[in-house]
Amino acid sequence: MTAKLINGKEIAQQIREEIRAEVARLQREKSLTPGLATIIVGEDPASQSYVRGKQKAASELGFYSIQENLSANISEKELLALVDKYNKDEKIHGILVQLPLPKHINEDNVIYAMSPDKDVDAFHPVNVGKLVMGKPLFQPCTPAAIQQLLLRSGVKIEGAEVVVVGRSNIVGKPIANILLQKAAGANATVTICHTKTIDLSRHTKRAEILIVAAGKSKAITADMVKPGAVVIDVGINEVGKTAEGKRILVGDVDFERVMEVAGAITPVPGGVGPMTITMLMLNTLRAAQQIFKA
Ligand code: NDP
Repeated sequence: MTAKLINGKEIAQQIREEIRAEVARLQREKSLTPGLATIIVGEDPASQSYVRGKQKAASELGFYSIQENLSANISEKELLALVDKYNKDEKIHGILVQLPLPKHINEDNVIYAMSPDKDVDAFHPVNVGKLVMGKPLFQPCTPAAIQQLLLRSGVKIEGAEVVVVGRSNIVGKPIANILLQKAAGANATVTICHTKTIDLSRHTKRAEILIVAAGKSKAITADMVKPGAVVIDVGINEVGKTAEGKRILVGDVDFERVMEVAGAITPVPGGVGPMTITMLMLNTLRAAQQIFKA
């Protein structure tokens, strides 16, 4: 068997078309343009590249967008004041502070300072709580991307045996929470595994949907996958550089071998990655829609 590829780029493109149409409608009918403020502190090249991608997507979709590039030396107080400025700015509906922040700034304080209504990353405790209760205003971007990849590929989630490898606050825990809700596009039976799980493959082999967010290349090998399973590989691991100095990235799953066992699989790159930014745009649109409950 060769697994079907779940193409994140194509699905992201579909969703972006839907967002573009909705932005045009909001502008036409309500004179409202969704606005996104992205704040980056310091010069970390990976963070700079993520933020460039987010700004590019925002402008392509017709959003109003502002980017703040702050020096790594900025104080926590100054950063909190800037967050507060955008909390009050009526043209801005979504605020994104790119993490990680320099060590002298307490990330929790920055997340807590953000208005939950503008917290398009959905990291604020109010948004985490609402997600757990099954009443989310926003879903965090990577887990939301995973759910959309499954739904738009026609994968049946209801009643499925889902195993999540990884329990981080940004991927593992929220995707487990999303898929176990009593709601459309969910209703799965979910198991979460981590480094203290005994006999990982005993769990992964049961999974009809296997979601891997471990941050380790080849954490999942072909013998750990149930034949015909749907495998979502969230991992991004740098395993070297090309002769031109470009980063070579792989996921957490032994892609070539698992392809021969799984029913469907996301590639890395080209799977979850392109979807994550699109879900941030969708959250910004939703934040703007809240203004009119439109
Ligand atoms: P974290 O490092 O925060 O969490 C990794 C989790 O995986 C931990 O819970 C850890 O367990 C568990 N884990 C690690 N190794 C194993 C193993 N061998 N067996 C079982 N469990 C294991 O990572 P993130 O959740 O932030 O990210 C995971 C991966 O996804 C990374 O490669 C990251 O780059 C990528 N990523 C990709 C995104 C995208 O848009 N495509 C977005 C976000 C992340 P324990 O808790 O016990 O330590």
